[in-house]
Amino acid sequence: MSVETDRDLGAELASPRAGHRGIPVDAICTGCQTVHVKRVRPSEVTKTTDADPVTLDARALTSFKHVCYRCQTATWWNPTAVLSGLVETERAAEEDR
Ligand SMILES: [Zn+2]
Repeated sequence: MSVETDRDLGAELASPRAGHRGIPVDAICTGCQTVHVKRVRPSEVTKTTDADPVTLDARALTSFKHVCYRCQTATWWNPTAVLSGLVETERAAEEDR
């Protein structure tokens, strides 16, 4: 299953639905199967919080609680991919500041 299809991951990340803190991951809602980019704090999905987020394996991450706009409540989301490209982009932007 590809996550790169016709989605604009950067735009999804910029939307309020992604949340405001943490690293970008692609995730699927366990309630309605909606797929959306979400920000998660590493401590929410892994015990190895000292690891570089870019090196995290999505399959090793645990599900996390986040608001789903379709379910209209906080639901559990399963991370399907760590969007390391977006992590790198944000780091580059921060270094320019
Ligand atoms: Zn949902």
